[in-house]
Amino acid sequence: DVQIVWLRRDLRMADNPALHEAAKLGPVCAVYVLDDAAAGHHAMGGASRWWLHRSLESLSKSFGRRNARIVLRRGDAVEELCKLAGELGTRTVHANRHYEPWWRKAQGTLSEKLDLTLHDGNYLFPAGHVTTGSGEPYKIYTPFYKAMRAQFPPRDAVPEPKTLSSPDEWPESDDLADWDLLPTKPDWSGGIAAFWDVGEKAAHHRLAEWDADVGDYEAKRNLPSVDGSSRLSPHLHHGEITPVQIWHALKHHRSEGWQSYESELVWRDYAQNVICQFPGYGSRNYREDYDALQWRDPSGDENAARDLEAWQKGMTGYPIVDAGMRQLYETGWMHNRVRMITASFLIKHLLIDWREGEKWFWDCLVDADYGSNSVNWQWNSGTGVDSNMFVRIMAPLTQSEKFDAAGYIRRYVPELSGLDAPHIHDPEAHGCRPKGYPRKIIAHKAGRERAMSAYKAMKGE
Ligand code: FAD
Repeated sequence: DVQIVWLRRDLRMADNPALHEAAKLGPVCAVYVLDDAAAGHHAMGGASRWWLHRSLESLSKSFGRRNARIVLRRGDAVEELCKLAGELGTRTVHANRHYEPWWRKAQGTLSEKLDLTLHDGNYLFPAGHVTTGSGEPYKIYTPFYKAMRAQFPPRDAVPEPKTLSSPDEWPESDDLADWDLLPTKPDWSGGIAAFWDVGEKAAHHRLAEWDADVGDYEAKRNLPSVDGSSRLSPHLHHGEITPVQIWHALKHHRSEGWQSYESELVWRDYAQNVICQFPGYGSRNYREDYDALQWRDPSGDENAARDLEAWQKGMTGYPIVDAGMRQLYETGWMHNRVRMITASFLIKHLLIDWREGEKWFWDCLVDADYGSNSVNWQWNSGTGVDSNMFVRIMAPLTQSEKFDAAGYIRRYVPELSGLDAPHIHDPEAHGCRPKGYPRKIIAHKAGRERAMSAYKAMKGE
């Protein structure tokens, strides 16, 4: 029988357990279904769609080299898979397990209609693999990390199929170009295209480079001006490479850098562990007391709307925040330290609900990931499963100095490219704010006080 391989965020040949198993059993028909409705608010954002286009293009070529194809369909994933199965006269579907709530639902419905085999391919371990002494899933990262480390090594990576046999007749497929995944008016993707090489080969190329640099990770990871992190996140998100492949490729390291990098890969697994327990994590406060917090609401308050826009455009008057937001828009990615600073600024200085930030990141990030994005936003806002971070208000100017962001600011805020440290961190205070660069939209102290009084009001203090 023909084996359908349902591709989603696993756009690779190697270490693809679903594809690997299917290829052993019979002719393979790989399919990608563009399902915009299933995820509701979390339908794929603009930057991710750009990446998806490039990644499918690249993977289709790899299939083509084996005289095989990826069939493209658009619509409700379950319906399309059932239709395809009918056309091929088969009931067998293989897929790598995904944990987004909409994919879990689709996996459940599909398994009632066809013979679906789910494989574990996208994480170090399946979600739910490590549990507390009483068999409960972990809520907090550190014990989760310790328990997972005790389980290492993860499974071995599986090789790519050497050959793929084809169905007697190829079913019809959409044309990728007709999906309009690339932006047209305006075409904002130039910076993103210049910054990234997409696809499985590019992911492995980046991993080989990273092998030489991972030893310095702990020393450099917090410095935005330095290229000190792996930048593998979009490749991981779209499944062009797996954390298992990365882990095995780098395990020969003994450095502090590798230890620290390994723990970040575990964060990625941890985020899936959280959304498995709390599927609504991307849209609801985990701590319900925060439902009473009086956020400034951009839909009803003109000033809040103006502030949100200034944040999105990188025009807040805080150079580190503006550099980060512009890096995001220009390249589809932002340095982790700066993600924390910009998130804290939106939530606390501007007192705008984390969900507005989550939404913007969702649209702009090439690595936008339901689990990682929501877990990190809820962590920053203190609404999540972990410690209460709302009261830890990051001072953007201090952060900018401490992590030596001058070069980063010069790169992404060209108006400030003529300034040096210390002036560049706060040109307004040093009397050298260039024309065209805004004053701070709120003073640090005023922002802090407003956030703390909203917090106290919520607590009834
Ligand atoms: P490295 O520093 O090289 O880390 C290696 C890998 O570990 C990353 O590729 C990523 O897969 C994983 N990782 C690292 N940090 C985290 C983390 N804090 N949480 C989960 N996984 C992590 N990451 C996403 O992949 N998608 C998102 O949508 C996302 N949204 C975020 C939103 C906010 C507000 C914040 C503060 C962080 C967010 N992150 C997200 C986490 C982190 O910023 C990125 O994973 C990281 O910057 C990607 O760059 P890198 O590949 O060079 O990471």
